[in-house]
Formats: sequence, C-alpha cells, structure tokens
Amino acid sequence: MTANLNVLVAVCLGYVAFLFLVAFAAERAAARGRGGWLRSPLVYTLSLSIYCTAWTFYGAVGYAARSGLEYLTIYLGPTLVMIGWWWTLRKLVRIGRTQRVTSVADLISSRYGKSTFLAVFVTLIAVIGTTPYIALQLQSVTASFASIAQADPTAGPLDDNRNIALWVAAGLAFFTILFGTRNLDANERHHGVVMAIAVEAVVKLLALLAVGVFVVWGLSGGVGETLARIDASALGQWEVDGARWAGLTFLSAAAFLTLPRMFQVMVVENDDERHLRTASWAFPLYLMLISLFVVPIAVVGLEVMPQGSNPDQFVLTVPLSQGQNGLAMLSFLGGFSSATSMVIVAAIALATMVSNHIVMPIWLHLTGGGAVISGDLRTVVILSRRLSIAVVLGFGYLYYRLSGGGAALAAIGLVSFAGVAQFLPALLGGILWRGATRVGALVGLSLGFVIWVWCLLLPSFGLDVVISEAVFTQGPWGIGWLRPYALFGIEGIDPMVHAVLWSMLFNAGGFTVASLLSFPTPLERLQGAQFVNVFDHSGRPQNWAGGIAQSEDLMVMAQRILGPAQAQALFQEAAQAQGLAGYLPEPTPDFLARLERELAGSVGAATAHAMVGQIMGAATVSVEDLLAVADETAQMMEYSSTLEAKSNELARTARQLRAANEKLTQLSVQKDAFLSQISHELRTPMTSIRAFSEILRDGAGLDPAAQAKYAGIIHDEAIRLTRLLDDLLDLSVLENGQVNLNIRSGVLSDVIDLAVSASGAEHGGLRLRRDRAREDVRLDTDLDRLSQVFINLIANAQKYCDAARPELTIAVRAGGGQVTVDFIDNGSGIPHESQTMVFEKFSRVSDQKAGGAGLGLAICREIMARLDGSIAYLPGQNGAAFRVTLPMAQRIAAQ
Ligand code: ADP
Repeated sequence: MTANLNVLVAVCLGYVAFLFLVAFAAERAAARGRGGWLRSPLVYTLSLSIYCTAWTFYGAVGYAARSGLEYLTIYLGPTLVMIGWWWTLRKLVRIGRTQRVTSVADLISSRYGKSTFLAVFVTLIAVIGTTPYIALQLQSVTASFASIAQADPTAGPLDDNRNIALWVAAGLAFFTILFGTRNLDANERHHGVVMAIAVEAVVKLLALLAVGVFVVWGLSGGVGETLARIDASALGQWEVDGARWAGLTFLSAAAFLTLPRMFQVMVVENDDERHLRTASWAFPLYLMLISLFVVPIAVVGLEVMPQGSNPDQFVLTVPLSQGQNGLAMLSFLGGFSSATSMVIVAAIALATMVSNHIVMPIWLHLTGGGAVISGDLRTVVILSRRLSIAVVLGFGYLYYRLSGGGAALAAIGLVSFAGVAQFLPALLGGILWRGATRVGALVGLSLGFVIWVWCLLLPSFGLDVVISEAVFTQGPWGIGWLRPYALFGIEGIDPMVHAVLWSMLFNAGGFTVASLLSFPTPLERLQGAQFVNVFDHSGRPQNWAGGIAQSEDLMVMAQRILGPAQAQALFQEAAQAQGLAGYLPEPTPDFLARLERELAGSVGAATAHAMVGQIMGAATVSVEDLLAVADETAQMMEYSSTLEAKSNELARTARQLRAANEKLTQLSVQKDAFLSQISHELRTPMTSIRAFSEILRDGAGLDPAAQAKYAGIIHDEAIRLTRLLDDLLDLSVLENGQVNLNIRSGVLSDVIDLAVSASGAEHGGLRLRRDRAREDVRLDTDLDRLSQVFINLIANAQKYCDAARPELTIAVRAGGGQVTVDFIDNGSGIPHESQTMVFEKFSRVSDQKAGGAGLGLAICREIMARLDGSIAYLPGQNGAAFRVTLPMAQRIAAQ
C-alpha cells in the first residue's frame, strides 16, 4: 500500500462506512432487546476514551517534545478523578439517571430550580468552550492529511489547508448528523454511537501502540536503548514547573467532569452504575497505555526527523519517513478515530443542549406550543439537532480560520478545558451542597466565564487578532490591572495558570458568597435536596402498578394542595368525562395538563409541573417527599391566609368598636340633650298653666274678662302640651318601627289638596304656586302619612317664610320610577350649616318667635323612610326648599 492521497481518502470513507455499520448493528441489536453485550463495562470504559482526542493522539507527542513530561498532567487529572473521586462520579451518574438529565446544562439548570436562563447560559459557555476543541480536531486531521500528502510524490501540491479543513468539517458534520440524529431517544442515549466510539477507542490505542512498538523496537533498538536515548535527550532535562503541574492537573480533572462530551458518555449514556467500578481502574489503565510511548516517540522523532518538523505530527511522520506506509495509514486512522469520535460526541452533546435549551424553547414560543403532543414535534427536534450540529462544527471551523491554525494543539486544548472547567463550582456545589442557589451559580459562572474569555480565549487567537498588543502590555484603556496576562497587577505567572487561578477563584468565591446571600425558591430547594441526597431517595423499588395507582397518588397530592372538595370535584369530573365511575380518572395527558394548570394556580407552574411529572415519571421523588412538600406549601398558604383573615377581622372589629363607641357617645349626648329639651318644652307650658291657674285659684277679685283670658291661655298651653306629647309619641312610634302603614292607592294632587286645606295655608296669606297637570301621578302609599309630611312642610313655610309676600311653589316631577315633590318658598331659607341639622329632633335654626318644638321635620324624615322614600333639603333655590322623593306606584312604573 502506498500513502497515496486518493487511497487515503478511500480508506477514510471505508473506515467511516465500517463505523456506520457497527453503529447500525448495535442500534438494531438494542432495538431488538438483544443488546446486552452493548451494555458491558468494557464498552463503557472504551467510550470514556473520547477524552483522548486527536490532541492526545498527535498532540501529546508534540507536547512532550516541547515541554517534557508536563503532558502527563492531562492524564493525571482524569486518573485522580476516576480513582479518588469515584463516589462523586457515581453520584453524578445516579442523579443523571434519576433526574433524566440530558446534558451538563440540563443538570445544572435542573439542580437550580429548572432555570431556563441558567440552561441557556451554560449551553452558550459550553459551545464557546468546545469550539476551540473542535477546531483542534480539524487542525490535526488537516495536518495529518497534509503530512501524508507531502510524503506522496505522486500527488501534486496540496491546495490550501483551509479547504481541507472545510471538507473535514463538512464531512464530520454529515457523519455526526447521520450517526447522532438517526432517531430520538427520550433519554438521549445513542447505543450505536457509543459502540462506534468504543471501536474507535480500540483503533486509536492499537495505532499508537503500534507506532510506539515500531519506534522502540524497530527504530531505537529495544527498551534499554530507548531509555538511554531519553536520558540523553533534552527531554530528560526539562524542569518541572510546580505551579503549572498543579494547575494543569486540576484543570484536566475539572474538565474531565465538566466537558460536555465527557458528561455525555459518562452520565447520559451510562446504562449501569456498576460500570463505573470497572471503569475506575480500566480507564486509568487505558490512559496509561495510550501515554506509554509518547516520550519514546517524541525523543526518537526529534532525532530522526529534520529540524523544524512539527512534533505534533511525529506519530504520523516518523513511520512515513521510514517508509512504513502501512503503519502510517494505521496511525492516520488512529488520529482520524480520535478526532471523529470526539467531534461526534461533542457535537451530539452540544446539539442536545442547543436544541433543548435554545432552539426548541424559541420554536415552541413562536408556534405557541401547539404541536407539543402531535407527532411533528419529533421532526422539528431532529431538524433542530441537525442544524445545531452544523452550527457547532461551523463555529469550530471559524475558530480554526481565525486562530490561523498555527497554535500548538495542546495550547488550544487547554483553552477549552479552562472554559468548561467554569461549570465545576456550580456542578459540584449543586450535588454536594444543599445551600447552593441559582443566583450563586449564575454569579459564579458569569465571573469565571468573563475572566476566562478575557485572560485566555481572546488572547488565544494571537496578538493583534482580537486583542491588540497595547492591551497586553498596558491594559485596556490603559488600565494596568486589567491586563489579560496580569490581572490585578500580579505579573509573572504562566498565562494558563494565571487564567485558571483567577477564573476559578472568582467563580467559586462568587458562587459561595452569592449562594449564602440569596434565598432559594421552593423548587430549587426540592431539587437541591434531590440532588444532594440522591442516594437516600433513589434506588428504592418503584412499583407503579398502573394508571389508577398513579391517579390515586395524584389525588392525594391534589387534595393537599387544592383542598379536598375541589380536588375531589376535579377528579370526579375527569373520571366522568372518561366514562369511569368514582373519583379516579386515568392519568391521560389531557387530564395531567388540566391538573397541572389547577395546581399551578396554587404552587406555581414549575412546581406543579415538577410534582405531576415526578409522580408520573416515577423518577426520583418518592411520594412521601412530594407530600411533604405539598403539605408544607399547603400549610404555609393556609397559615398565611388564616393570618390575613384574622388581621382583617381584627381590623373590622376595631372599626366596628370605634363606630359603636362614637355612636354611644353621640347617643349619650343626644339623650342628655333630648331630656333637657323635653323638660324644657314641657316646663314652659306647665309653668304658664301653673301660674295662671294659681292666679285663677287665688285671685277672687279678677274681672271676668281677665278670668276668661287666663283660662284661654291655660287652654292653649294645654293644647300645645298635648300636641307636643302627640308629636313625641308619634316620633317614638315611628322610630321604633312599630307603625302600621295604611297603603292605599291615590293621586298625588288629591294628597296635596288635602294638605293645603288642612294647613290652612290658603287663609294665612301664603300664596301657593302649583302645576296641577304634573300632579296627576298615581301613588301606592300611606296617603295619610304622606299628607302629614306635606302639611308639615306647608305649615313651616307659613311659619318661617320671612318674605314680604310669602309664596310657596309645589313642583312635582315624575320619572325614573320615582316622584319628587319640591316645596320651595321665597324666604331667606336655611343657612348651609343647619340644612341637615333641621331634620334632627328639637332642632330649630334660631330663636324664633313662632314655631314648634323642632320635631316636625324629624317626624317627616321618619315617615318618608317608612314609605321607602326620603326627604332632604334642596339648596340653591332662593328660599327654603325641601324635596320629598317617593317611589312611583308599581303599575305605573311598570308601564
Ligand atoms: P318646628 O316644629 O320648629 O317647625 P321643624 O322640624 O318643622 O320644627 O323645623 C325645624 C326648624 O327648621 C324650624 O325651627 C325652622 O327654624 C326651620 N325651618 C323649617 N322650615 C323652614 C322654612 N320653610 N323656612 C325657614 N326655616 C324653616
């Protein structure tokens, strides 16, 4: 076989076709339920090897050639995590499964109260953080193509590298779309892909081992020889930079947990928690094997390759230079495998996030969510996944173009690591610390992200691409402490360590402080408890016996939130609608949606959704947990509404007490006034009766005329007294409501006629003005009482109208179901401040010569109230004016 470029392309395509077949077969087997072997710990462990990308395959040798053993840190971190943090991984996997987590963004957002904003934010960081990494794969595949092409004398000069990169990106996008979005799985599992990347893991390991064996035994002449060469090489003298070692080990450990693609294979694609146990030793072993020959290849490569060759390509160029074309081809396939497996999984993971957290919410929002249950949603999801994959790879290509494709592979990889490592505080805090809050996660992520972008991502494009050299040396706008490589004026730290140190410090600090200062929502707390105590909650057998059993649980929960009556009514109604007897309907999607809406009114949409979803999904929360939350909420709501009701009641009682007190005071004052008035009113006639009767009794010498006069006075006073007593009696009867009304039908003009003649107004010099035509109104009322009111008003005009030629206008107006009768005289009227007062008992406007005890208008008011009407003073009429209002007779009003 020759290293012909055409052959190379053919081999590539053949290899891809083979992988596709593997994936296809695996999926078929899984679909038929015969895929038990797919779920072996070995496959799981091999799938984890996507951690080792083209960076590892090509870059590690380059790294070693440049920086000695430092490349080991990249393996040290994951190894430490796998061995030392096994329990954290197990927790992540358990949470991932019980909460049906689909991505790292989903996990973080679920933990912090299903925050959409947080999900979008994490997704964006993940996309931005992974972009350099994808660029790295493009770069290495492109470079490997170029290396082979250079060694191929039959091929013409290779056209622009960029074109190759573009083709590779497009090819990978196509490949990923074919692989990753063939169908949709509710749990986002991709058995076929996992199987394919497991195969790729074997290929890349074998390829690297083969090159290593060739180098050690074929070129170098054995183990002893090789070790001697290593000792003699510059590699052996590299000094270990402690800060960089610590920083990079931490970084690779963090990235191992937070890289979206690692999360995808480790958590999302995990079938069985127990696989972790195998992986915890098998994966470090894999890492050891794959890094075994890195140093020999680097050392030998530096020796045999001409000065200035790219050490990142030694794995490929060393066999090529020795004419080992077959080995070179295998090596190429190993690199190709590393790159493709990483890109495929990363693109799938990112596409899931972008589609779930950005594209779908927007689409559902735009379309009003109408297609939620219909089948076409699946098409939309698949389409949005495919689009997202294309976009993600497009970004990778763009980064490759922008960064010029010249940077060392390792450097690019580390930029990526540092970006996604920003998830670490929110992720670990979320699963280990119940007090962690959404605000804390947001603050921490934002701070870390901003520092990462400024100190690492933007500078990674190179000088003067995004950040000018002046900014590096003097800071933006001359602010020295903002220099990207010397934040806060602290200089001399390795840029990588510098960025990681500051970003993680601010991220973790901000996260902790903001979490302590903010208050979590109930859903956040629920989720927090679920995540942190995942081992207490899950693992119990979930025996959901079927629809009705779930309905019963839903009913129990609904009763606690809605109250028994409402919940029972809701359930019974739904059951009836489904044609079932009793109170328990089938939990159909319709009913669940309805129930959620009902519950949402009490506990909020998110909580309602979580509660119903968790009962139905039977996922994590035990019914007891849910009930505890429901109880708590119900109690809190009940308590607060009881408190509110109590305080309202207290306020009402206080108001009533105050009013009653005021009234009592008033009544007491009135009673005193009334008593003194009565005694005064009674005493005056009594005094004169007594005086004149004494004169009559003692005065024997009185002439008959005087006798008659005195007797007349006594008689008048007695009549006045009687009238007063009559009025008082009348008033008291009216006020106590003991009056018997004599309702009759009559015409208003007759009543007025009667009142006019009874009051004797026609003879008393008072001119009356009437419009008899308007008075033809039929009334159903106590006509005698009504005329008593009229008589009083006419008599008052007679008594108090002080005009030279007194006149009284009686104006009637009927309409709107009532009749008004106005009595307007042309006197000086009643002053404003007395206008309401005159209706009170014993109220008289001033000391009048004529006039009664001030009971007349009070009686009128009482009578009108009994007749369902009213009497009021009518101001602004150029004289005293009283308006009597009466309801119109029913049959007339009805006409
Ligand atoms: P009285 O028995 O004194 O007439 P009323 O209750 O009928 O008592 O009237 C109360 C007071 O209202 C009278 O004392 C008088 O001062 C005033 N008043 C009533 N009608 C008129 C009127 N037409 N013009 C002026 N003052 C009036």
